[in-house]
Parts: sequence; structure tokens; C-alpha cells
Amino acid sequence: MYPGFIEKANEDENERAQKSFEWANAVEEIHYKMYQEMLKQIKAKQTPKDEPYYVCPVCGNTVAGNAPDICPICGTPGSKFKKIE
Ligand SMILES: [Zn+2]
Repeated sequence: MYPGFIEKANEDENERAQKSFEWANAVEEIHYKMYQEMLKQIKAKQTPKDEPYYVCPVCGNTVAGNAPDICPICGTPGSKFKKIE
């Protein structure tokens, strides 16, 4: 669904829209991987790690453990990330 939107945004030369679709796409992949990792732990009857999550206020990137220095997707400083416990 997203790649089609990215192409359309390219055609319109609308860089801002293109960027936010790219971010949404990248973040969705990250969320999917996290979800898969959690499922694996549940299936293996492991207790999921008790660690905080940090969410980028701009693009929604989610990181477990510690906030990065800088968001790898949109470049927002890690100090702006929201901590979720
Ligand atoms: Zn970000």
C-alpha cells in the first residue's frame, strides 16, 4: 500500500508528503519486527524483557532499551523521545 503512495508523492514533487510516507513505511517495518520478536518470546514461553520503550515524537519510531542519540529515520534528537514503561 505505501510504495504506491511514495510513487505518487514523487510525481507531485511533494517532498514533505514523500518523506512522511517513507517514515511511516520504515516505522511500520520496525513495529512489525518488534511484534515478531515478542511473538517468538511468547511461543518459547520466555518472559519478555522488562525494558522501557522510547518513541520518536516526529515519526513514531519505537526503540527498546535506550533512546538513540538521534532518530535513524527522521533525525530528531534522542532527548526528545518519549519514554514508555
Ligand atoms: Zn523519528
